[in-house]
Amino acid sequence: MGCLFCNIISGATPSKKVYENEKVYAFEDINPQAPVHVLVIHKTHIEKLEDLTAANSSIMADLFLAVKEVAEIRGIDEKGYRVIINNGTAGGQVIWHLHVHVMGGKDDMGPMVVR
Ligand code: AMP
Ligand code: ZN
Repeated sequence: MGCLFCNIISGATPSKKVYENEKVYAFEDINPQAPVHVLVIHKTHIEKLEDLTAANSSIMADLFLAVKEVAEIRGIDEKGYRVIINNGTAGGQVIWHLHVHVMGGKDDMGPMVVR
């Protein structure tokens, strides 16, 4: 019950860890859309970008510093990769715990969005 990604952070729901520090957790997406598809989440639960404030804005710095670590760990940092946040219903968000998709492992990630 509750938030799936909070349950992944606590270990109640299993996941394949890629990287962790005291602020963030990164793990394999269960349904990868690219050869490398890792999700980066903050240990502080916020639903979406609208919940960011000046007081909690360090969440974004923590997430994106972890994105960089994940890219290096997965060896996609030099070639390049795509970083996606699906924010809100129209943005395609289905898990209501803010997360960053790190996707790569291809020479070309293709069109940015389906028109
Ligand atoms: P979003 O549409 O941005 O909310 O993306 C949610 C992502 O979570 C999707 O890419 C799913 O494949 C992924 N996902 C859902 N459940 C799990 C899980 N238990 N472990 C890992 N990834 C998951
Ligand atoms: Zn959560």
